[in-house]
Amino acid sequence: MDRPPPGSVEDLATLAKLDEAILLDELKIRHRNGHIYTYVGDILVAVNPFRDLGIYGHEETNRYYLAKKNEHPPHIFAIADTAFQNMLGYGGRTPTNQCILISGESGAGKTESTKLIIKQLVELCRGNTQLQQQILQVNPLLEAFGNAQTKMNDNSSRFGKYIQLMFYHGQISGAKISEYLLEKSRVVHQNEGEENFHIFYYMFAGLSKDHLQHYGLNGPFKYRYLRNGPGSLKHSKDKLRSNYEELQNAMDLVGFTDEEQQDMFTIVSAVLHLGNLSFEEDDKDAAFIQDQNVMDNVASLLKVDPQELSGTLTSIVTITRGEHVKRYYSKQQADDARDAMAKFLYGRLFGWIVNKVNQLLASRDNIPLSAIMEVGILDIFGFEHFEHNSFEQACINLANEQLQFFFNLHVFKLEQEEYAKEGVDWNEIKFIDNQPLLDLFLSKPIGILSLLDEESHFPKGTDASFVEKLNVHFGGKGFYQPSQRSKDNKFTIHHYAGKVLYTASGWLEKNRDTLPPGVMEMLQMSDNELVKFIFRAQVTRTGTLAFQMRKSTRKTQKSRNTSKGGFSDARKRKQTLGGQFKNSLQILMERMTSASPIFVRCLKPNHMKSPGNFDEKYIREQLLYTGMLETTKIRREGFAIRPGFEEFVNKFKVILCKPSLPGTRENCIKILQASKIKGWQVGKTKVFLKYFHLDQFSEILEKMG
Ligand code: ADP
Ligand code: MG
Repeated sequence: MDRPPPGSVEDLATLAKLDEAILLDELKIRHRNGHIYTYVGDILVAVNPFRDLGIYGHEETNRYYLAKKNEHPPHIFAIADTAFQNMLGYGGRTPTNQCILISGESGAGKTESTKLIIKQLVELCRGNTQLQQQILQVNPLLEAFGNAQTKMNDNSSRFGKYIQLMFYHGQISGAKISEYLLEKSRVVHQNEGEENFHIFYYMFAGLSKDHLQHYGLNGPFKYRYLRNGPGSLKHSKDKLRSNYEELQNAMDLVGFTDEEQQDMFTIVSAVLHLGNLSFEEDDKDAAFIQDQNVMDNVASLLKVDPQELSGTLTSIVTITRGEHVKRYYSKQQADDARDAMAKFLYGRLFGWIVNKVNQLLASRDNIPLSAIMEVGILDIFGFEHFEHNSFEQACINLANEQLQFFFNLHVFKLEQEEYAKEGVDWNEIKFIDNQPLLDLFLSKPIGILSLLDEESHFPKGTDASFVEKLNVHFGGKGFYQPSQRSKDNKFTIHHYAGKVLYTASGWLEKNRDTLPPGVMEMLQMSDNELVKFIFRAQVTRTGTLAFQMRKSTRKTQKSRNTSKGGFSDARKRKQTLGGQFKNSLQILMERMTSASPIFVRCLKPNHMKSPGNFDEKYIREQLLYTGMLETTKIRREGFAIRPGFEEFVNKFKVILCKPSLPGTRENCIKILQASKIKGWQVGKTKVFLKYFHLDQFSEILEKMG
């Protein structure tokens, strides 16, 4: 069969001839022509253009408004529209909650896609409510505090998020954000060529002189936590200032009060000042503070007692046989205590911001829960493999394994199992199952996270003893490779997306995620409302913060503590970071499983963030590890739409001009034959249709009037 002109095919699942080279060629030519979107059946592939294509304006918004999929070129707006229509049950579908899963490497375009989907979903509601405006402003707010410039991406999300948009009668009625694993370590350390979170640079560019003075800030060059420069080297000061203004506007519109905003800047400033604390050691190896001014600054911003602050950062008080014994930290211990406190302050602040946003955007109480439908959008951090990969990368890559597993489960496993069960005539399509990798991380009691927890709880555990255990348990397995050299705390994991060499230094400490003794208590007693509030919050078993209502009697709150997070059991033994992450992933999977998934695959055309460059080798790698060829095959042969007999007959009996008709297998076949569509099968309990059949049916129904 003749191949259509390369680059003209909008749905790769319609290609008659299919192999890796053809897939690559089609995507390359489409990318060159500025067609970054391509369908693989119902899946959207998006190649990052790294330039403004001007295809997200009013015209496109209207074009993809309640449109038929095959009438217009592939587009991210079409995905939003599909989700919207599916959710509301348009075109003869059963109304179902939707979740859109966006995957791809860091810098592939996941967050931009997420923003565009949300923008279009808001447009699809056609209203202009305050809530809609608020929802659109959440992103600049979260990005200011949660994104940073990295080597892979100038605006890299350093947290994962699942955004649920709730709808009531086709109108947006609320939104909820779940946040995953903010990379707190970035606050105190950035690799060469990378930056801290955007907010630090926005502040210097945007705050007035008076405000800067109020927070004791002068010039971004002076801070240890901004060691790679002021951030304006790459971005012009004007750009940073306009980013600041955008943030300011977003905070106002979403509904943060002036007082809250001030408190937020106060905490961010306190973090910066804290970073400038330096310690020296006296002749007894006891740490002491070098610059009392800096200490006083931090204390006055956080509204805590300077004596107490310096005490908790340089010493520990234990009670031995009823007596208070004070032991001084070494310089290293004091440095660590300082950094731990800075990370905690920032992490808690971020958790509070997300929580506040959720309060401000929550569905109104008077809407019955059962009447609410939702579209969820997952924008999780992309697969990461650097020279140096730590605990954060392990978690990020685990999340990606989980997502790939979910994709495989839906696209390959469940689907082919059903064909077998229903007796559909089918040639099996093989895929690479990454279950063993999930097991490697998640199995109990012998999995990477469980073993890490075990070592973290064990007083004598060290990073080295942890790696030793990994080597003992997984050494012989194919996915895990111990280091050649002993005692360098390194190991390699063969992820679905490639090999990653991990270095386990600091993992136990990161996993324990504890504050130096006394710091928590001190901050809970702060005279700054927000500081006090965020440190009195409880951490749920998924790592989110559960706040007590500001003005409530505490006793009744405590006894009614039955929130989903269930922090009562967390009190028994503090959840480790890995444990929290595992729990939050599990809840995410449950949420996604209860909705009907739509997949968007973002591809990154080159490592240089460059518009004109399509690195074939790099794209080929991504196509390979995401199983794109197999996906295209299954989308070409497979049956995406599978109504039961009853449902099918009810919807399409008009084709036989029958007002009523029993929902039997025979009647299904009669309807299908009368409709003259091709390629369907009928199983034991269901009709098996290709994804494009529904559009064909709608056309038939339209013609019949
Ligand atoms: P990810 O979230 O996958 O790490 P982003 O969505 O942040 O990646 O995209 C990285 C950068 O790529 C963006 O800052 C933007 O410059 C560019 N980009 C991504 N998608 C698009 C798009 N659809 N149009 C134009 N530029 C894009
Ligand atoms: Mg992102």
